[in-house]
Amino acid sequence: MKKGNSSLFFTDSESAESYSLSNQFAENMEFRLVKDRNTATPYDFYYATAMAVKDNLVRKWLRTQNTYNENDTKRVYYLSMEFLIGRLLKNMLTNLSYDEKLAEILERDGLKLEDIVEAEEDMGLGNGGLGRLAACFLDSMATLKLPAFGYGIRYEYGIFKQLIDNGYQVEQPDHWLATGNPWETLRREINYRIKYFGKVISHKDDKGNLWFDWVDTEDVIAMGYDIPVPGYNTDNVNNLRLWAARSTDEFSFQEFNRGNYLQAVENKSTDENISKVLYPNDSYAQGKILRLKQEYFFVSASLQDIIRKYKINHSSMADFAEKTAIQLNDTHPVIAIPELMRILLDEEKLDWDEAWKITTETFAYTNHTVVPEALEEWSVNILELLLPRHLDIIYEINHRFLKYVKQYYTADDEIVSEISLIKEGKEKFVRMAYLAIVGSHHVNGVAALHTEILKNRIFKHFHKIFPGKFVNVTNGITPRRWLRTANPKLAELITNKIGSSWAKNLSDLRKLEDFTNDKKFLKDWQDIKLENKKKLKDYIESEHNIKVNINSIFDIQIKRFHEYKRQLLNVLHVIDLYIQIRENPDKEFTPRTVIFGGKAAPAYLQAKMVIKLINNVADVINNDPQVGDKLKIVFLKNYSVSLAELLIPAADLSEQISTAGFEASGTGNMKFALNGALTIGTMDGANVEMAEEIGEENMFIFGLLSDEVVKLKESGYDPKEYYDANPRLQRVVSIKISV
Ligand SMILES: *Cc1c(COP(=O)(O)O)cnc(C)c1O
Repeated sequence: MKKGNSSLFFTDSESAESYSLSNQFAENMEFRLVKDRNTATPYDFYYATAMAVKDNLVRKWLRTQNTYNENDTKRVYYLSMEFLIGRLLKNMLTNLSYDEKLAEILERDGLKLEDIVEAEEDMGLGNGGLGRLAACFLDSMATLKLPAFGYGIRYEYGIFKQLIDNGYQVEQPDHWLATGNPWETLRREINYRIKYFGKVISHKDDKGNLWFDWVDTEDVIAMGYDIPVPGYNTDNVNNLRLWAARSTDEFSFQEFNRGNYLQAVENKSTDENISKVLYPNDSYAQGKILRLKQEYFFVSASLQDIIRKYKINHSSMADFAEKTAIQLNDTHPVIAIPELMRILLDEEKLDWDEAWKITTETFAYTNHTVVPEALEEWSVNILELLLPRHLDIIYEINHRFLKYVKQYYTADDEIVSEISLIKEGKEKFVRMAYLAIVGSHHVNGVAALHTEILKNRIFKHFHKIFPGKFVNVTNGITPRRWLRTANPKLAELITNKIGSSWAKNLSDLRKLEDFTNDKKFLKDWQDIKLENKKKLKDYIESEHNIKVNINSIFDIQIKRFHEYKRQLLNVLHVIDLYIQIRENPDKEFTPRTVIFGGKAAPAYLQAKMVIKLINNVADVINNDPQVGDKLKIVFLKNYSVSLAELLIPAADLSEQISTAGFEASGTGNMKFALNGALTIGTMDGANVEMAEEIGEENMFIFGLLSDEVVKLKESGYDPKEYYDANPRLQRVVSIKISV
């Protein structure tokens, strides 16, 4: 193709000799999508672009993986049930520094990169912060050139799409794969057998050693799909491997012999349900057998894959822990601990002590929450049925742990049963967090306050038994996606002042302190904010038909709906503002647009009622002529990573108002602060550390401290007392106005 040639499509006189982006685009459009300029849809444009970008990554991707193998480097594996990635195209372009190049090429055909980017479906394989953290870590680890691999599940349906009907949340399936995923590559040769059910048999060898076999299992196949993870400004391209369930080719002989061919095939297809859908609960453990199947499914496949890779360079398991770090994102993958023990004992024939040493030196566990309903406990009955060998191993781990506890810690039966991995009772349960603590070399909380709560409250005995095991690793976010890509104008303004190093080294933003009195700089900043607000205003108008005042304060609370996150408190404040406006119509009032967004778990009725309340309050306020454009309430449907990227750069005020002691870290809080919004919040999670960095005087902090919350609860908290003592609160709660 001649230099400066002007089309994305091949013309007869061109050849595809030089592999420029535009050539690849044209090839994809014609040969892979079988489209030309007359038939291409906006989605085709996106798809052809994405494939061209991915093709450009392949060589670096292969080279990175080869280098890891050749150097036999220690690898880190991040095991997570969730990766809340969002869209990939813009992020890939940012990291490859292709954005301007591609925009130029597209423009020659009258196409806008902005529009093409919008055609991509969000990859919503997560619920909220936990899944988004996993996605941010992938970006950061690739940027830091760490030999890191993500492992998860290729859910066919991601987090549900949220519609609002008459103010109520309505869930719709998110069939994001229906239109294909240009980023993934099926690795036909990477597939593993995952066993379920069956029974454990034992036999003695000649030397009198006892061996265990797990037999008569019902098996499913895990197939690996790979997605490239390029670092920013580096040639390093890491890998995210997601597992999809496929049935084995074996038929149920019983059904088959009965001549029931169709029934036998039908039963096969239910195996594939394992990777069908993401459980839509945030901070809530659902004790369903399918969920446990999912957990074991991706853990077993990942461990088989990790061990296969290790064995390329090693003939024994002796150095496994030196070469392998496995990070468990919450307790969801904790069945990996007994699974590695099972492999080392039953397949590698190591003795218990060797196997346990390798296992504990391999795993580390991240705790994400202290709310009791989120702490996983698996019924012993379910485990016995589905994973009988693992249950045996868990019992043995517990036996040895409690023996140690009694010898070195306490003989107090009450404490021993309190910290046992097994919760006794009519039905017995395995406490997965305790298993994780005992089976890992480190346990981390996700913010300083949260880690202290782990050490001093919920895991206090474990902290005393294993001094030094608990460490803090405060959550973070990638500044590439959350500033450079989401807010390109602000990113450019900052880069023009202090250079671009902040994108890799965020503390360099401190250099901006030299410009706090630079009027031009501040004005430019304000102009960019206003431009971002205008973009959001247009979206609100077109999607929700609400007119908002861009000179009002954009006051935003976006996150999963949860009682502890207190969206209810926020809407009560909104009602109070409304009463003030009605009572003093002539009083000066700083106009405000209060924006909510977030999904409630489909079975979480209390949270769903708060969504309904917000929508009803919005109906009243937005249609009251006495209010005008002083106050508007917007509930944005279907909060997602892509919506966050639109909202956060437009925020003036960030609402981080959880009850202190409940939000482990929060990461939304950081995204807002990075984009120059002010924060109103409680001393909870990472807000505490943000206050230290920003200076308390630059944050609106209110409410009880986490210790005060505990004390108040212990002394008998009665919300009615507050209601009875506070007339303003009474009016807010009892106000009756119809639309
Ligand atoms: C960052 C993020 C979250 C986490 O937000 P919190 O305010 O920390 O709960 C949840 N969902 C999406 C889509 C996000 O981008």
